[in-house]
Amino acid sequence: MNQNEKRVYLVQCLCPAGHCILAAAFVGDGAAERQRIAAKTLQGRIPHLVAKRRLNPWCGICHAALDDCRFAVGPTIYRTWADVHEAVMLLAHQIRKAAAN
Ligand SMILES: [Zn+2]
Repeated sequence: MNQNEKRVYLVQCLCPAGHCILAAAFVGDGAAERQRIAAKTLQGRIPHLVAKRRLNPWCGICHAALDDCRFAVGPTIYRTWADVHEAVMLLAHQIRKAAAN
């Protein structure tokens, strides 16, 4: 992948065991500053979400405290939101089909 190629990126809040507690996506070009801002933005939303009781202050799988979580940013295989949408719709179709059997 070209370092400056536009991609859909994921920024994730991960507990120490690697469970994803919260994630967001953005389109980026690999610039480190944009990735740092994305992680800080997601991190900054957490107290608000906890205060509004939309997010528990612990991992729902292993119960690690949110204070022990780390943030990771990385590119997906998708170049555009349309690519993401197509993949999500295909997965939703496959899940519906599997659930019907
Ligand atoms: Zn966990």
